[in-house]
Amino acid sequence: MNTMVKGLTYTEQGTTAWNNYLKQLDKVAPHLGELSERLDMLRRPKRSLIVDIPVIMDDGTVQHFEGYRVQHNLTRGPGKGGVRFHPDVNLDEVMALSAWMTIKCAALNLPFGGAKGGVRVDPTQLSKRELERLTRRYTAEINFIIGPQKDIPAPDVGTNPQIMAWMMDTFSMNSGSTVTGVVTGKPVHLGGSLGRIKATGRGVYITGREVAQQIDLDLNDARVCVQGFGNVGSEAALLFHENGSKVICVQDHSATLYQEQGIDIAKLIEYSKHHQKIQGFSAKDEILAAKFWQIPAEVFIPAALEGVIDVHVAQTIQAKIILEGANGPTLTEADEILSKRQITVVPDVICNAGGVTVSYFEWVQDLASYFWTEEEINQRMDVIMKNAVADVWIKATQAECSLRTAAYILACERILMARKERGIYPG
Ligand code: NAD
Repeated sequence: MNTMVKGLTYTEQGTTAWNNYLKQLDKVAPHLGELSERLDMLRRPKRSLIVDIPVIMDDGTVQHFEGYRVQHNLTRGPGKGGVRFHPDVNLDEVMALSAWMTIKCAALNLPFGGAKGGVRVDPTQLSKRELERLTRRYTAEINFIIGPQKDIPAPDVGTNPQIMAWMMDTFSMNSGSTVTGVVTGKPVHLGGSLGRIKATGRGVYITGREVAQQIDLDLNDARVCVQGFGNVGSEAALLFHENGSKVICVQDHSATLYQEQGIDIAKLIEYSKHHQKIQGFSAKDEILAAKFWQIPAEVFIPAALEGVIDVHVAQTIQAKIILEGANGPTLTEADEILSKRQITVVPDVICNAGGVTVSYFEWVQDLASYFWTEEEINQRMDVIMKNAVADVWIKATQAECSLRTAAYILACERILMARKERGIYPG
């Protein structure tokens, strides 16, 4: 069945990212009162730019790549969102990712709108010089819609601090002055922020700590299972471990490690940095990957892949809290089951927002040309994430809904109220 949504349609069965986003909005609409009349603003991106990127390859031939920058909503401030270099990038996906940035920034109460960019390319197939030329031409093509007061890109899948440095340099060359605040996720000596790399994992821990307090769960000796031991999972695991919880299971692409007495996370981090995997750290404690979700534990942290919590996992998992470090680890039908089973799910838009919070700090520091210590950054992040959990918790209690729906309600209320107060130009 097709459902007409003024100007943009979605299908009930459709599974594209944008389709899923539209369905999420419809779920929130009944909670918005008179503001729901304004929801159409969020059902389409404010601005979508598709660019052709010609690149002179090392062999002298010219190849063309398709690039995008979508600014979904700019009501509360400049756009914020990463740039993805991946062969599957397409407009539908970039639109959805930009919309989720709108929701995430508003749920965290950061003064940003949502944006996202991407280039359909496999960056691993390019030489460093080709990658630089692609990045610089992409930046030049989107140059007129980005800027510290307009839209601030950041790294995402397939991009990194070096690519952000090239973007910053290209934008600066076209502006005639050094503009560090045009992108975040830069190398630290180029205006990047301390604490950025560990920020997402730290945010996962903070949101877990806050939610545990709300449900009277003592994290001391609480059992924690972590899927994914990269940037996000390893830092979250370390903070739980350092603060008295027992991280009893860690899974990565290579192995699933289970130690009932708790794993020495600092040692495991050292090992996995050296070997690029956890397999072999303690071979006798490795278990089948499929057993991961069956382990009795109070806290589960999916911090690797999308869609790993399906209906079956939701029906059988024995957890009190699920912390969504990854983006989209829980399928919609599974979400409803977890909600009925009264398992508290801290949704990705809040749980993994530590990264965008420190990106916000990077932008603030660049604009002020004054840089904070890592301790200051961690303290300020703690306040923002703590407040976000408190706001969402209150909203969920008032609206008698899940934390995910509450985060969406709160975000939509903030954006639509801001638009109501700004009015529509020309009036
Ligand atoms: P990463 O590449 O550093 O680590 C990914 C981890 O997942 C690795 O340990 C890898 O071994 C593991 N993994 C891969 N396939 C697996 C499988 N089949 N089973 C179990 N583990 C598997 O990535 P990251 O930066 O830690 O990001 C993890 C997730 O968090 C992603 O969904 C990402 O989109 C999301 N996220 C990251 C950030 C950030 O700042 N890094 C911010 C927001 C959201």
